[in-house]
Order: sequence, then C-alpha cells, then structure tokens
Amino acid sequence: MTQKMILNFPAGISGTPITYELIRVHDVKVNILKAEIQPGQIGSLLVELEGDQEKLEKAKQFLISNGVRVSPVSSKVSYDEKRCINCGNCVSACFSGALTIGAPDWKLHFNPEKCIACKLCLTACPQKLFRIEFSTIN
Ligand code: SF4
Ligand code: SF4
Repeated sequence: MTQKMILNFPAGISGTPITYELIRVHDVKVNILKAEIQPGQIGSLLVELEGDQEKLEKAKQFLISNGVRVSPVSSKVSYDEKRCINCGNCVSACFSGALTIGAPDWKLHFNPEKCIACKLCLTACPQKLFRIEFSTIN
C-alpha cells in the first residue's frame, strides 16, 4: 500500500539522513514528490511511502520519534467550500487531477491523494479560497 504525507523537519534535524534510514532500516520505499529544504531552517517534503501497513506504521513512529511532523495532505491543503462558486478555474490549473468538477452535482471535489502541493490553485482561484501550509510546522 502507499500513503502520501507531508513531512516537516524542524531546523535542528533538517540535515540528518532520515529518509535514508526509512529505506534502509524500515524497508519502506520513499518517493519524494516535492521538497523545500534550506540548510539551518525548517525542511518540508511531500512523500509517498510504500510498504505493508505494519512497516508504514513503524516508519511513521520512527519519523515522529525523531521530531518530524507527519501530516496528511488533507490537513495542509484545503479550500473554503462554502465560498466556492464552482467556476472551475482551479480545476484547469490542477494538472495532477486532485481537483475535479463533474456530474452529477457539478461541484468542486478535492482528492488529497492526488495533490502534489504545487500551489497553482492558490493563484488560479479568483476568490482566493485555497490554504496551503506546506512549509509551516503548524
Ligand atoms: S496544490 Fe496543486 S495539485 Fe494540489 S490541489 Fe492545488 S493545484 Fe492541485
Ligand atoms: S477557482 Fe475557487 S471559486 Fe472557482 S471552483 Fe476553484 S475553489 Fe471554487
């Protein structure tokens, strides 16, 4: 199985080889989809981890015990659904297919499992409804 998640590394550990340890010690495949890392500051990764459920759970515990903040994409990327006018601008910008509009309700739908935190929806939305907290620790 695969799980997509955002990892935020506090400043003190951003230089340590944690993803390497995930692969070598925990036998989990790590696919890095996006990275924002600056030496001495918070580092952030969007990763897809692949392994069986037990290995993934141990890998997550290993990350947390090393001070890494582990968040599902849905907690970091969201939009204000109540104010959405379903204009479709963000759907055109979202090349990963995470945002869709279609039958039967013709309302915007967000699939966090397809989101790659590219932030293109931020500028595409005329209502400025998107919130993306990729590089923040909260
Ligand atoms: S951040 Fe990128 S991939 Fe995610 S919903 Fe917005 S446009 Fe789509
Ligand atoms: S661009 Fe904004 S208003 Fe338009 S469908 Fe997307 S979220 Fe809704």
